[in-house]
Amino acid sequence: MDGVSASSDSAGGRETAEIRLRFGEGRLSGYASMVLGLSSLGGVLCFAYPSLLTTGDLRDVYDPTILRTGIYLGILAAVILGVANFLFHGGRRQAFVGVGSAFAATLFGGPYVETSGAEAGRLSFGLDYFILALLVSALVFIPIEKLFPRDPDQPILRRQWRTDLEYFALSHLLVSYILLVTLNLAPTLFDAAWLEPIQATVLSQPLFVQFVMAVFVADLTQYWLHRFYHGNAWFWGLHAVHHSAPVLDWLAGSRQHLLEIFITRSVVFCPIFLLGFSDQAIASYVALVGLQAVFAHANFGIGLGPLSYVLVTPQYHHWHHSNDPAAADTNFAVHLPVIDMMFGTFRFPSARWPDGYGVIGESVPATLRGQLLYPFTRKAR
Ligand SMILES: [Zn+2]
Ligand SMILES: [Zn+2]
Repeated sequence: MDGVSASSDSAGGRETAEIRLRFGEGRLSGYASMVLGLSSLGGVLCFAYPSLLTTGDLRDVYDPTILRTGIYLGILAAVILGVANFLFHGGRRQAFVGVGSAFAATLFGGPYVETSGAEAGRLSFGLDYFILALLVSALVFIPIEKLFPRDPDQPILRRQWRTDLEYFALSHLLVSYILLVTLNLAPTLFDAAWLEPIQATVLSQPLFVQFVMAVFVADLTQYWLHRFYHGNAWFWGLHAVHHSAPVLDWLAGSRQHLLEIFITRSVVFCPIFLLGFSDQAIASYVALVGLQAVFAHANFGIGLGPLSYVLVTPQYHHWHHSNDPAAADTNFAVHLPVIDMMFGTFRFPSARWPDGYGVIGESVPATLRGQLLYPFTRKAR
């Protein structure tokens, strides 16, 4: 197929083909129609079934007028792009999906869909979180990667993009389950009453100081957990999934085994809970986690000078993903390089980038299913 190159992975079945979206071939309008149509349909379903499909913490901050206007514009754009695709390119499959889902969204009431009050405190699927995070991340990071690419030749839909999109969907749809487990492990395991004097001191600090402290203790904890993943045979199988991305961009950071997400977030939350930071400090830390996890993997080629020694940047974290044995087991920190400097694992050659990415010496499956099973099916190194 023109513009599409497929390859396969012997250990994990067929991997997702690379797809180049060029003007004039119909793929761009087809995919845009599909994304907007499906997002509009998802948005309408969120209004129709808020208790089942929307995230409790986000419901309070929504402006329904803006969201309904977004759904209206999304349906309109999906239909216009889809019809243009039929007229000028004979109708690609994606355009059918785009127009079809826009039509289904309209049948449900489109921007005028009726909504009921959501039950508070119920576990739900974060369809709203998935759609908004995907659209906002794509709108912010795709232009940044196109303007300042590390690899200008890397397409938006690069090798194994579908696997990483599936991870992105899973971790966002299951967000209320992930939070339920990870935020409750520490309070279940530890009685923090004896730490109240320390917690009072922490709480009396200005918000920015608390935020920096939270980032530091979280990254210090995650650093040693991360080194443990690299050093233990079984846990390496779990973490190798994250390292198996053959190409790095804003979506690649989503590739993380669900079990690793549960373990890492639970463990990292323990010191945060014990030290008793304010809700705003924790919210600011969580926002940094989301932003830096996406940015650190981005196909972003600008060296950030002295800032790279203060905060983990794409070039810094790309070296952690390098398939060069000389760079293995370096740059473990996810927020603050100073933690790698403290423990002798800092590596930051400012003028160079890795030649390639991936796991050294083993073949991790390319599909989501193969990767979720990988820690249980792989032979110990
Ligand atoms: Zn790692
Ligand atoms: Zn990474």
